[in-house]
Amino acid sequence: MLLPPQALPPPQAPLIAIVGATVIDGTGAPPMADAVVVIRGRHILTVGRRGAIAVPPEARQVQASGKWLVPGLIDMHVHLDEDISPEAYPLFGVTAVRDVGSRLVTLQKLRARAARGEPLPVMYWMGRNIDEGKPSWWGAVAVGAPREVPALIQNMARQGVDGVKLYVRAGPQITRAVIREAHRLGLSVTAHLERTLPSQAVQAGIDNLEHVATLFLEFAPPPSGKQGFGRHFPTDARADLRSPRAQRLIALLRRHQVAVTPTMAVVTLPVEGERMATRLYRGWAEIPEGWRAFWKTRYWDFLTPKGWTARDYRTARQARARYLQMVRLLHRAGVPLVAGTDTPAPWVLPGAGLLLELEWMTRAGMSPAEALQSATGRAAKVLRKEEQVGTVRPGRLANLVLLDADPLQDIRNLRRIHAVFLQGRLLDRDALRQKFLQAKPPPPGA
Ligand SMILES: [Zn+2]
Repeated sequence: MLLPPQALPPPQAPLIAIVGATVIDGTGAPPMADAVVVIRGRHILTVGRRGAIAVPPEARQVQASGKWLVPGLIDMHVHLDEDISPEAYPLFGVTAVRDVGSRLVTLQKLRARAARGEPLPVMYWMGRNIDEGKPSWWGAVAVGAPREVPALIQNMARQGVDGVKLYVRAGPQITRAVIREAHRLGLSVTAHLERTLPSQAVQAGIDNLEHVATLFLEFAPPPSGKQGFGRHFPTDARADLRSPRAQRLIALLRRHQVAVTPTMAVVTLPVEGERMATRLYRGWAEIPEGWRAFWKTRYWDFLTPKGWTARDYRTARQARARYLQMVRLLHRAGVPLVAGTDTPAPWVLPGAGLLLELEWMTRAGMSPAEALQSATGRAAKVLRKEEQVGTVRPGRLANLVLLDADPLQDIRNLRRIHAVFLQGRLLDRDALRQKFLQAKPPPPGA
């Protein structure tokens, strides 16, 4: 394994008891009022009602009456290669992320920083994106033929991936070969599709699909040859979600229980830009100057509405309404949804972006409890890491968020963070915020 483990050093006080909070455990079980959660080292030791479980006398007690305790959140779609301040995830209660396409060296560096004591989230890694022909994007790898696939996947497994991801140039044959080999090695597969239809990937056994917009390929294919950000919006804006093809796809996704990561953030914030971002983050998250400067560099041109007319913006908003409608239909049909953002796409702040994503999920008809599940227990299941993260249960990492208000009343209460525990450590959020505000964009050309 080329990746070092991602353990933080154990906390100074080996035993902590969080006493009196209402626990929402991430499994979908009803909240438990007046609970006690005992942490030992990096893990949760016990969870129970006050009086029903023993509180070790030597435990440091954290009084939490009148507060709510939820599992640390999981962002299922981030890109650490481009992220200039990953410490911001835990600042906003996101204690684990799934990287969907970065280089090994990035993960090695970040895990080494965590091992030295930096409070970085638990980082799962889907390896480099898999393309066909030639790599479409910086960090992607490409294969020429299905027979090259087993060696590639075996190599990724040796590097320590937690799953693999198919990318935009992978056609149906490569898709089938990747899924076959990954499953043989016990790895899950997700995809950002463009050359393979969602139904083909589902028939081949895929586990997860990224970006609700890619589902529209099935029933609203964009004109070929068009390039650039937003090329899908004109056809998606007019897509008929009641058409037989759309209905068949939804039924297929449900039957195979393929998870979908909608990523509403990336079809919203990069389009609307600074004005909307400033409004949405006002009062609870600041946008560091370094991030503002970074997002305005040419690096991000591929994801921003350069040269758009008022009509292009209207079209994008119509398409977005269709995506939200699709999320609603998927949810109603019983397709498992998980929360991911595509951080750090323009104006999608690490951590804070996920809290906005969850709000969009509730706007698509999910209850706050269901939205919370999509970033905790269900996300962990799709990651196949439910023994490590995603729930407040004995044996799991002590990744916990203590809130001043009930997130089941209003999902926006996830912004009202009182404290964050990361692998058993109570974080100094003021220090994290200071560090976040000093985020520096990489030098041009780096
Ligand atoms: Zn992405």
